[in-house]
Amino acid sequence: MTDTRIENIVIIGSGPAAWTAAVYAARANLHPVVVEGLPIGTELPGGQLMLTTEIENFPGFPEAITGPELMERMKTQAVRYGTRVVSDLVTGLDATTRPFVLSTKYGEPITAHTVVIATGAAAKWIGLPNELRLAQTGGGVSACAVCDGAIPFYRNKVLGVVGGGDTAMEEAMYLTKFGSEVLLIHRRDSFRASKVMANRVLTHPKIRVLWNARVSQVFGDQEITGVELTDTITGETRVQELGGLFVAIGHAPNTGFLGAQIDLTEHGYVKVASWRTATNVDGIFAAGDVIDDYYRQAITSAGTGCMAALEAERWLTHHGLS
Ligand code: NAP
Repeated sequence: MTDTRIENIVIIGSGPAAWTAAVYAARANLHPVVVEGLPIGTELPGGQLMLTTEIENFPGFPEAITGPELMERMKTQAVRYGTRVVSDLVTGLDATTRPFVLSTKYGEPITAHTVVIATGAAAKWIGLPNELRLAQTGGGVSACAVCDGAIPFYRNKVLGVVGGGDTAMEEAMYLTKFGSEVLLIHRRDSFRASKVMANRVLTHPKIRVLWNARVSQVFGDQEITGVELTDTITGETRVQELGGLFVAIGHAPNTGFLGAQIDLTEHGYVKVASWRTATNVDGIFAAGDVIDDYYRQAITSAGTGCMAALEAERWLTHHGLS
């Protein structure tokens, strides 16, 4: 890539939204570039699905597929139709100039007529040494009950959910379908969640709330066996046996590199027009979990990735650029 080349479309990200946008853009002969990111800490190119083991709810895979394999297949499909992949991190996006200029950590700046932001969101973790290891190895720690809760591993076991917000309420309710009991572990004595969702949890016969409790250790080698709980008032600790742990303490959308140019929602997600992927900047679109704090599914991300590519293609045609 040279400094003077202007790309039709640059897609930032490497999850289902990014690869789906790339497949559509490539098949429309737009020769898309995907800047797929680099491993940073717990974040891997491929996004949250890289921390998911079996995916049983992505249509077309009746035998299930692992998250990393699904991402690899999507990438292969995008590349097959002419997508160029840049392994680098976008560190800034100048939306005040036309074409747009993306700065990257290691490479030359990239200029583009249209941009699709598909950088996803990262689940927040408690930060315990064994927590992420077991999450990465399919050892019974997860940050998404809807993604992982239905797999046989969690059936008829005592399952823990950490958090006191709406996500934790939803995850706890969902897990009652599979676990023998659900323990909702919350660090305070009242929920942040909406009253209606909290009431559903508090009155559910299979859910027990452990108030003022913090998970201070996760036990288990291949599979989780339990956690250490620390009472946040008295400091006392005790061991709680568990067959699965779902961390539901929020998500952080990956929007830090955008600065103040792109309008965000009050929770920091990229704001898009209703049932569209257009941002406040003409020619910049956004898709996937970076716009979505509600569904957060691979299939919905893929859907909005498709929408973003179609919108970008129409934008380019409308402006006589493709
Ligand atoms: P949230 O509202 O920020 O709640 C996070 C919860 O995790 C809080 O209860 C917090 O405890 C706890 N927490 C944070 N860090 C922790 C840590 N290190 N260790 C232990 N606990 C920790 O996040 P959310 O539940 O994901 O919801 C995000 C937004 O999406 C909210 O606006 C929510 O209403 C919305 N949402 C809506 C729906 C729905 O309407 N169906 C479903 C899901 C989410 P404290 O309370 O002590 O701070």
